[in-house]
Amino acid sequence: MSAELTFVAPRRAKPSRHLADLSMAERRTAVAELGEKPFRADQLSRHYFERLTTDPSHMTDLPAASRDQLVTRLMPNLLTSVREITCDGGTTRKTLWRLFDGALVESVLMRYPDRVTMCVSSQAGCGMNCPFCATGQAGLTRNMSTAEIVEQVVAGARALARDEVPGGPGRVSNIVFMGMGEPLANYKAVIGAVRRIVDPAPEGLGISARGVTVSTVGLVPSINKLAAEGLPVTLAVSLHAPDDELRDTLVPINTRWKVGEVLDAAWNYAAVTKRRVSIEYALIKDINDHEWRADLLGRLLKGKLVHVNLIPLNPTPGSKWTASRPEDERAFVRRLESHGVAVTVRDTRGREIDGACGQLAAATPEA
Ligand code: SAH
Repeated sequence: MSAELTFVAPRRAKPSRHLADLSMAERRTAVAELGEKPFRADQLSRHYFERLTTDPSHMTDLPAASRDQLVTRLMPNLLTSVREITCDGGTTRKTLWRLFDGALVESVLMRYPDRVTMCVSSQAGCGMNCPFCATGQAGLTRNMSTAEIVEQVVAGARALARDEVPGGPGRVSNIVFMGMGEPLANYKAVIGAVRRIVDPAPEGLGISARGVTVSTVGLVPSINKLAAEGLPVTLAVSLHAPDDELRDTLVPINTRWKVGEVLDAAWNYAAVTKRRVSIEYALIKDINDHEWRADLLGRLLKGKLVHVNLIPLNPTPGSKWTASRPEDERAFVRRLESHGVAVTVRDTRGREIDGACGQLAAATPEA
């Protein structure tokens, strides 16, 4: 067959390069390659990370003739808002984003009296296949780039700075990698995003690393790598069961790394970073909420630098599972506390807009 007939137009495989993908040194090089003075990288960074703008007409410190090129080449639009749903009087808002290739992801902004938390996605879809999580049901579409992850935070920061979220102008204080995807399965892009989030302005957003939480199903080698990064972010481990038999079914990657190995990696993380590890445990009625399991969990966690976050199971389409009975939840908490383990029950913010843990599925909007 002739070459002409088999020619297929090349599909862009990756999102365009963006300022937020690059370190400050790389930004200077990129700017120089466009024929501009390297210090323009600092000016652009200030616009993006401090003033939260990508509008060339606001960039009056840049020569008018250069602005459009710099913005087009280094601040391409990566996320398009498809739909926004709010609840809690506008203080919880879930945004559905379309990426350059049509992939869909979601992020959630939650404003509390004392803080603003943004829950961001790190992958379109997820390959971990946990049966109780809506994201897992559709499988993995693709990894997100560093800038695609950062853009979710910048969009939230912008909305807050512009007084678009009830409660007056504000800032993002906490970031949780608990949206769509398994962050440690997209390690390099996620670490890049964490650096952009915590680096002081104008290199990054200047959000305290203490306010950043990376949540994982328990990819042991990546947890150990994260411990060595020197980034004091909080590690959250989605445990959901203290015994391998049940965890093999709830968090299928457990067939690769067992409860004991995951917890050892968590204790190593706590030892290296001096940060308390969060154990996430979705309470599922009659599945993992037995008192004997609370006891077993308590024995595993006793005396460690740890905190347990119990999450009443959020309903997902097609699942027969539901949240535990209130009395079983209370008994579970009491049992854990009897081992001296710190426990909180997470609120279910965003449930009514399918924006709570495990409900992000990026369904296409109804016509
Ligand atoms: N893949 C990562 C991060 C995304 S999920 C991880 O698994 O940690 C964020 C948290 O929500 C995880 O603890 C996850 O197990 C939990 N979760 C998933 N589905 C849920 C559901 N239906 N109800 C409550 N929590 C859920």
